[in-house]
Amino acid sequence: MDNTLAKTVAEIHRLHLQLREIDEQAERGPRQLKIRQQATQQKQTDLEAQKHKYKALRVAADQRGLQLKTNEVKIGELRIKLNQASSNREFDIIRTQIDADTMANSVLEDEILDTLEKVDAAHIALKQLEAAVAVAQADELRLTNDIEATLPGLQSQGTGLRQALQSAEAGLPADFIPNYRRLSQAYGAGALAEVDGNICGSCYVSLPPQMGVQIRAGQVLFCKTCGRLIYARVVSG
Ligand SMILES: [Zn+2]
Repeated sequence: MDNTLAKTVAEIHRLHLQLREIDEQAERGPRQLKIRQQATQQKQTDLEAQKHKYKALRVAADQRGLQLKTNEVKIGELRIKLNQASSNREFDIIRTQIDADTMANSVLEDEILDTLEKVDAAHIALKQLEAAVAVAQADELRLTNDIEATLPGLQSQGTGLRQALQSAEAGLPADFIPNYRRLSQAYGAGALAEVDGNICGSCYVSLPPQMGVQIRAGQVLFCKTCGRLIYARVVSG
């Protein structure tokens, strides 16, 4: 009984599975980094928007403060005119103007207080966003360092496994290779499946009894259900 092909296929399958695991590990870090970079970028965008908001509120507060001072000067001038009024009618007109301007300033003072509260709140939000950006950047740096520390090792493991896979594939019979290539290009490690008991390891369907016998005798066949190349682990021989 010749088990050579089943053994070779089992070894190839083992190498494919290891290689898949290593490749997944190697891709995981850069994928996570990309997600974190996008998160950092979003936080930086938020921070820039908050800086603009904060600045605009301060400008508004300053402008209102300036307006208040201008109005106070105007009221002061009106009070001098009031003292110099030459008739009751002129006095009443100036008095009315002073009352109106004083009322306007009172409204302006409320607006300034309101704006200053908004400036404070915007400043707190700004500081929180700055802290969030710093945390995100530190996370990103840590992950970048992790990747730089582990990626070369994973890549060299991958290279070693690919070489071992090539050597193992060289042991396949020539008439077997086209089917193997076609399936492994389509499914990678999933091209091959081990039969456990009488069950295909890819689709979990029971094999016909005769096929089970052939597989256990060391043949490598196509599963009639899922089309994968199936083999049984050979204990000895
Ligand atoms: Zn199957």
